[in-house]
Amino acid sequence: MAHDLVIKNGTVIDGSGSPGFEAEVAIDDEKITAIGKNLGSGKKEIDAKGHVVAPGFIDSHTHMDAFVVQYPNGNPVVNYGVTSIVIGDCGASCAPVPSKPEPRKVLVEYLRRVLDKYVDDKDWKWNTYAEYLNYIEGHIAVNCLPLMPHSPVRLTVMGEAAYEREAKPEELDAMKKMVREGMELGAIGFSTSPRGGPAIHAGTPSTFANHDEIVELANVAAEYNGCFQFNGFQMMLQPESGVPEMLKRIRGLQIGNEFRQRPGQKADAPRAIAYMEEAQKRGQQLFGVVIPYTHIRRFTINDCFFLNGLPTWESIKNSSDLKSKLGDKEIRRKLEQERIAGSGKPEFPEWHAWDRMVFEQIEKPELKKLEGKNVAEIARLTEKAEVDAFFDTWLEDNLKSQCVYHGLANAHQDLLAQMIQSDTSLIGTDVGAHLDRFFWHGAPVKVLGYWRREKHLMSLEQAVHKLTGFPAEKLRLNRGLLREGMPADVTIFDADKIDDLVSEKLPAIIDAQEVKRHPPGMKAVIVNGQTVVEDRGINEVFPGKVRRQQLCV
Ligand SMILES: [Zn+2]
Repeated sequence: MAHDLVIKNGTVIDGSGSPGFEAEVAIDDEKITAIGKNLGSGKKEIDAKGHVVAPGFIDSHTHMDAFVVQYPNGNPVVNYGVTSIVIGDCGASCAPVPSKPEPRKVLVEYLRRVLDKYVDDKDWKWNTYAEYLNYIEGHIAVNCLPLMPHSPVRLTVMGEAAYEREAKPEELDAMKKMVREGMELGAIGFSTSPRGGPAIHAGTPSTFANHDEIVELANVAAEYNGCFQFNGFQMMLQPESGVPEMLKRIRGLQIGNEFRQRPGQKADAPRAIAYMEEAQKRGQQLFGVVIPYTHIRRFTINDCFFLNGLPTWESIKNSSDLKSKLGDKEIRRKLEQERIAGSGKPEFPEWHAWDRMVFEQIEKPELKKLEGKNVAEIARLTEKAEVDAFFDTWLEDNLKSQCVYHGLANAHQDLLAQMIQSDTSLIGTDVGAHLDRFFWHGAPVKVLGYWRREKHLMSLEQAVHKLTGFPAEKLRLNRGLLREGMPADVTIFDADKIDDLVSEKLPAIIDAQEVKRHPPGMKAVIVNGQTVVEDRGINEVFPGKVRRQQLCV
């Protein structure tokens, strides 16, 4: 009897971290049925010669809750080898939907701010959490690991009061009931954005909750072996926030977001690693999500953030003859002096170098040759001082240029490397949110390509483990390893070619075309036995599972 699918001639890297070996992989229905030599023929066969055959990657942090409806093929992450995504992160999701119009409006506005402007409740064909899961089940190509999101739950139970005050005992009981129902329907845990977290979440319903409420809701999820996900990761290092104490009262896996090294806070990275290691020794299962990229910030002359707060800049930035001011060498000299003296203080706490500043978009055709170049390169080409190259380029382009600063967070490569390598971190993409600033949908491939192949941060086996067996074990998934009897989530890629290409040229915006981009080196992606991505094409199959009972052990 022929198998449904046989993957031939590849190197199997099974996700456990152990060495790769030459073998065939046979798949029947949804499962891996054999791994070894001469497994016979398949109704479908994939020649993986020169390729790695690995478990599908697990994306530990996304905001794809609306994307999974908009892009049911699993874009953009599926093309990068991802077969399972966490959704409902940071207490934000498009279900449950509050029935009253005002709270519903508040939810939509919140999601537009945190996810992005694309969120539109006209697309919502559900109200309850059950209806949302039913809606995506059978219509999504990748596995979804849904978290019960605090803010929609609070809005649905408390209405307007959700963004006015703490919960009354009967409201807390109703929320606990709703989280329990969510867990029984298939959620993998509970998520929140506590007070004091990222500014973008400020004033949202979950920030009106006290820590007792969060603990009680999280511990309902823990009864089902569910996890607790929270943002405002750095509050963990601030005892006065109460977050460390709160975390000690929550049972089960805890995942903080985002574990990043902020500008001017070099000590963050080693401190956070040490804190999580200590917590783990005490038996607290605490991890942080790392996006394995240096963060960027886009800016124009109107938003020249690294000069904000410098006295000279403050005195000229709104002036009507800004151009002549910027052409004045004496003013430039003063700006440079102030910037260096204060390292960009007070508003921007850490300056790196002019080579972090890239002219991403230039309007004038005759200046196009400078597009994509950083200020240090432009200075060399034009034989100018860097500060002059910066302002002259801007002036010559009538102040129309757009720049990108590389280093808003995770600017220190050595620290970012430690964070990625640490056993306290899980790799995530944050896909579906902050679309004007985040292009990290290639995160798994960034680990395999840039960090593993170019920076030699880890072996191929370790890199695959970091993206598969490791997060699967923490999230208690019944996948993440290539073993007989396991669900057939498989990624086939060329380890020499795999590349995210994101760092070469950042897309200006995540549009439908960008979302569907295929990275080089990815041959095939298989979810629950069905081939979703194959040779830079996508098949119209939707084998993703969406419930804990099917995805977890
Ligand atoms: Zn998030």
